[in-house]
Amino acid sequence: MSAPRLEIDLDKITHNARVLVEDLGERGIAVTGVTKAALGAVEVAKAMLRAGVSGLGDSRIENIEAMRHQRIAAPIMLIRSPMLSQAERVVKSADISFNTELSVVRRLSAAAQDANRVHGIVLMVELGDLREGILPVDLIGAAREVLRLPNLELTGIGVNLACHSGMAPDATNMAALSTLADEVEAALDVSLEIVSGGNSANLNWALGKGKIGRINHLRLGEAILLGCEPLHRTPVDGLHTDAITLVAEVIESKTKPSLPWGTLAETAFGGDVTSTDTGDMSRAILALGEQDMDPAGLVPPDGLAILGASGDHLLIDCGKRRLQVGTEVRFAVNYSALIRAMTSPFVDKAMARGRTARPSLNLA
Ligand SMILES: *Cc1c(COP(=O)(O)O)cnc(C)c1O
Repeated sequence: MSAPRLEIDLDKITHNARVLVEDLGERGIAVTGVTKAALGAVEVAKAMLRAGVSGLGDSRIENIEAMRHQRIAAPIMLIRSPMLSQAERVVKSADISFNTELSVVRRLSAAAQDANRVHGIVLMVELGDLREGILPVDLIGAAREVLRLPNLELTGIGVNLACHSGMAPDATNMAALSTLADEVEAALDVSLEIVSGGNSANLNWALGKGKIGRINHLRLGEAILLGCEPLHRTPVDGLHTDAITLVAEVIESKTKPSLPWGTLAETAFGGDVTSTDTGDMSRAILALGEQDMDPAGLVPPDGLAILGASGDHLLIDCGKRRLQVGTEVRFAVNYSALIRAMTSPFVDKAMARGRTARPSLNLA
């Protein structure tokens, strides 16, 4: 197999999704599986669908189109506000989109008329994280406009927290969303199918003891793929945290001094070099760099430490070990390392079902 590569264990992804679908289902919450971190990979989409997610979500129309071309028939929602310039494509490939701008909603209505389709609109509400959302005072007006426009359906309302400002979903903001759902329904005499409480950051709240209220939907990506909740990056009970790992190969292995010598200036990526002299050390270089992933988002195997990275090199303190050239080293990844590795053309994506556990370090 080629290196570097992301190894994606599809059965572990299905397991994670299934546990979440079941646990949240008991609380009346449906799960949309979010595929954006996997670039809409059809294998990952299918792994989520096998677990019983109610549909798929992605932030990029390109990913949604790719899934449609590969005959994914499940409901798919575009979870980022559509670009005006992409309204036709959105209506064609996505069943539902998340919206905050009436100019976009109007364009979607026109595109849906042209395509002779009905497009679902989820209006996103701003509840404090200050990323996307209509201010609560403007929500009923916006919902009224959606109802007035042809070929649109007001599918529901939603909120996204813990992204820009790190505002945690809690009893207060979730109750506020429930109240808004009641108010929209009462003011406009409609019933909202979806009240979407948020992303993986909602799990602590949703699986906790609090009142769920009207929230009946979450969009989950990170928790399914990495087994973690993003608020404190703690593993979720019962989920695999190693469904996706990154493997890279050693291209240099030497004993070198721990201190650099010569005239010090800036490093390639502006980081600091260590300045403690611990004598000679066992160091290795892996063929993996900033162009492939986010080095701050890697967790090395026990006994190894990351010294730094440049565009194409990852430097490792091998501790008591000596890694042979050609050795493969396996890392756990966080969300940031994952999305950069997924988008790097240099990183192979090895997806398989029924993979057996491998050692974290394949010592040559
Ligand atoms: C990315 C995203 C999600 C999924 O977030 P995870 O933390 O990966 O679960 C859900 N909703 C919106 C609007 C998003 O942009």
